[in-house]
Amino acid sequence: MDSQQFRDCAITVIDMLADYYDNIRDRKVLPSVEPGYLIKTAPENAPEQPEKWEHVLKEFCEIVMPGVTHWHSPQFHAYFPHGSSFGNIIGSLLSEGIAVMGFTWIASPACTELEVVTMNWLGKLLGLPEEFLNCSPGPGGGIIQGSASEAALVGLLAAKDKMVRKLLRRDPDIDTELIKTKFVAYASDQCNSCVEKAGVLGSMKMRLLQSDSNCKLRGETLRKAFEEDKAKGLIPCYVIANLGTTGTCAFDPLYELGPVCKEESVWLHVDAAYAGAACICPEYRYIMEGIEYVDSFDVNVHKWLLVSFDCSAMWVRDSFDLINAFDVQRIYLDDVKSDANVPGSEEIVPDYRHWQMPLGRRFRSLKLWTVLKIHGAEGLRSHIRNHITLAKHFVTLVRADERFVVEPEPVMGLVCFRLKNDDSSTKQLLKNLTAKKEIFMVACMYRGRYVIRFVICSRLTTKEDVEVSWNIIAKETSLISRPTQEKKAIKAASKEPLYYHKNIPMETVNNFYERSK
Ligand code: PLP
Repeated sequence: MDSQQFRDCAITVIDMLADYYDNIRDRKVLPSVEPGYLIKTAPENAPEQPEKWEHVLKEFCEIVMPGVTHWHSPQFHAYFPHGSSFGNIIGSLLSEGIAVMGFTWIASPACTELEVVTMNWLGKLLGLPEEFLNCSPGPGGGIIQGSASEAALVGLLAAKDKMVRKLLRRDPDIDTELIKTKFVAYASDQCNSCVEKAGVLGSMKMRLLQSDSNCKLRGETLRKAFEEDKAKGLIPCYVIANLGTTGTCAFDPLYELGPVCKEESVWLHVDAAYAGAACICPEYRYIMEGIEYVDSFDVNVHKWLLVSFDCSAMWVRDSFDLINAFDVQRIYLDDVKSDANVPGSEEIVPDYRHWQMPLGRRFRSLKLWTVLKIHGAEGLRSHIRNHITLAKHFVTLVRADERFVVEPEPVMGLVCFRLKNDDSSTKQLLKNLTAKKEIFMVACMYRGRYVIRFVICSRLTTKEDVEVSWNIIAKETSLISRPTQEKKAIKAASKEPLYYHKNIPMETVNNFYERSK
C-alpha cells in the first residue's frame, strides 16, 4: 500500500464509520452468527500475496461485521459502557498513525509529557486531592494503565513490595520469600472478577468478605477479618474497595475502610472503574468521601469518558512505591534525564516504565487529549448527566408497570429490575430477549434474587431509545406471561417495525459492501 492508496482507503474507512454511527439503529444489537462462524470459513493460512485494500474492506464487511455485537447501539444495555466518540477515533488514528513507543522520555518525549498533562487535567476534573497529581510537589502522580485489571494487580504488587520493605526495616533477618506467603488481600464479595484475578496473578491469598445487605463492604467486617488473620499469623497487606460494583454499582465506604487500613499500614486501592468517572460532576464527588486514606485510585476512562479501551487512569499517592517495586535497569534504557527516579528529585518527568508491568507503552494519552479537547469538560459532564437522567426515565417506565420491581435503588446509569413473581420468569424474560437480539442486557444477583441489569451505555442514546428498549421488554413480558395460544397470535401480529427512528430512509442504511466497491 503506498501513501495514495492509504489516503483513499482511509477516507473510505472514515466514511464507513460515520455511516455506521449514523445508521446504528438499523442493526440488531446482537449478531446472528453461531460459534465458529468465522473460524470455520477463514482460509487456513495468511495470504502470500498482497491484496487490494478494496478487497480487504469488502471482506471486512462480509466476514467481520456480521459477527459484531454493536456496543454503541442505543439498545446495548449490558455490562458497562465502552467509551466511543469521534474525538476518540481521531486520537486513536493519530496515535496508531505515528506509532511511537514511550518507555523512556527520549523514546518519545511527547508520549510521556502529554500523559503527565492529561492525567493532571483529568485528576483535577475528578476532584482528586492534589497529592495524587504529578503537578503537586510530592511524589504522587497519575499513569494510564491498560485496564482496571492491570491497575488492581500493579497496586497489589506494589503493596506486597512495600510491606516486605516495612518488615525488613523492623527485622532485617526475616525470610522475605516466606513472609510473602503470609500476606493477605481483601475485597468484597461484590468485587469484579479482575480483583480476584489480581490475587491469583500476584500470588496473594485474596479474601472476598461478605458485603452488607446493600452490597457494601463495611469497616467492621474488614477489621474483623484483619483480626482473624493476624491471630492465624497472617499479615493483612492489600485492600481493594469498590466505588461502583459491577453488579449493582454499590459504593464501599472509604471513610470506614480507610481508618482500618491505616491502623495496619495496609495499602488501600480503589476500583472506581465505571462510576469514578461521575466525579467529574461535583454533585457525585460524595462517593469519594474518605479518599484521604487511599493509596491508589483507578478509573476506566475507557468506560464512561468517551475514550475507547485501553485507557485506565490510575493515580498513586507515592509513585516511589511503584518505582521501588518495578524498577529494573538496562543500559540500553538509560535516559537523558537519569535523576527522574531518585526520591526527592526535582524532576517533573516520570519514567513511566517503572510504574507499570510491560516495558512498551503506546501513546494512549493522545486519545484522552483529543477527547478532552474535542468534547471539553462540559461535554463530558453533560454526557454523564444525560446517562443518569435517561436511567431515571427508564426507572419511571418500569415503576409504572406493576409487574416489575426496581431494586436496589438505582445509581448512576444502572437500573436493576425483576419481575415480581419467581426468578424463573425473570430468567426466561432475559433469555427470550437475548434470543431475539433486539436488546442486550445481563443479570446479577441482589439479596438472593435474580435481577436484570439495564445500563445506559451508548453515547447516542436518547429518551426515545430508552422507550424503544422499554417497549421491547414490556412486550416480551406480556408474551411470556400469556397462555400459548395467545402467544402465537401476538407473535403473528408483531410484524411492525422494531425501531422508533423510522425517519431514517432505507437507502441511507449503512452498507459497507456498497461503499467499499
Ligand atoms: N472493575 C469494575 C467495577 C468493572 O466493572 C470492570 C469491568 O467492567 C473492571 C473492574 C475490569 O475492567 P478492565 O476490563 O479495564 O480490566
